[in-house]
Amino acid sequence: MDRNKDISLFLDRDGTICEEVGYLSSPEQVRLLPGAAEAVRLANGRGIKAVVITNQSGIARGFLTEEKLQEIHRELSRQLIKEGAFLDQIYFCPHHPSEGKDPYRRACDCRKPSSGMVLRAASEMGIDLERSYCVGDRFADLECGMRVGTKGVLVLTGYGKEEWVSGVGTQWRRPSFVAVGLREAMEWIFEDLKGL
Ligand SMILES: [Mg+2]
Ligand SMILES: [Zn+2]
Repeated sequence: MDRNKDISLFLDRDGTICEEVGYLSSPEQVRLLPGAAEAVRLANGRGIKAVVITNQSGIARGFLTEEKLQEIHRELSRQLIKEGAFLDQIYFCPHHPSEGKDPYRRACDCRKPSSGMVLRAASEMGIDLERSYCVGDRFADLECGMRVGTKGVLVLTGYGKEEWVSGVGTQWRRPSFVAVGLREAMEWIFEDLKGL
């Protein structure tokens, strides 16, 4: 634990902050989930870094370009700012191990559940992983952080319900908490932080 470093919320994007629509490929498809902006705003207010960590294999698969992804992220930021919330950073993995073409077709260390994006954020932004949290609607969103010391909160939006029903097996995958949505996840995190 390093109290000189910041705490971060590593947030999955689709199904966690905005609606899961399959492969989101245009800004018009960006719709915030209820309570998501409020959760981010609460984190902002406490100086907790809000960092999006998102797998975007749609780029490898040819569903969208990196330029289109930037447009989508500008739209996401615009909708959040309208609600008084902001993201500190967005990291994405454009790769896929077996689909698509060079340079995107490769076994990388950033595609969740690998921890590459979390580790990169921690080093670039000065994040204390032991006091940080991964939040997402899939176990992979939690694992990428839990492997390197964060806690993990599963949300039941997006694919969350299916994921929770299907995957309660492996001990270490067990989430620190299961929340109805991002707003409830944030409330639990605030309570949890009181104990640290
Ligand atoms: Mg998701
Ligand atoms: Zn990658």
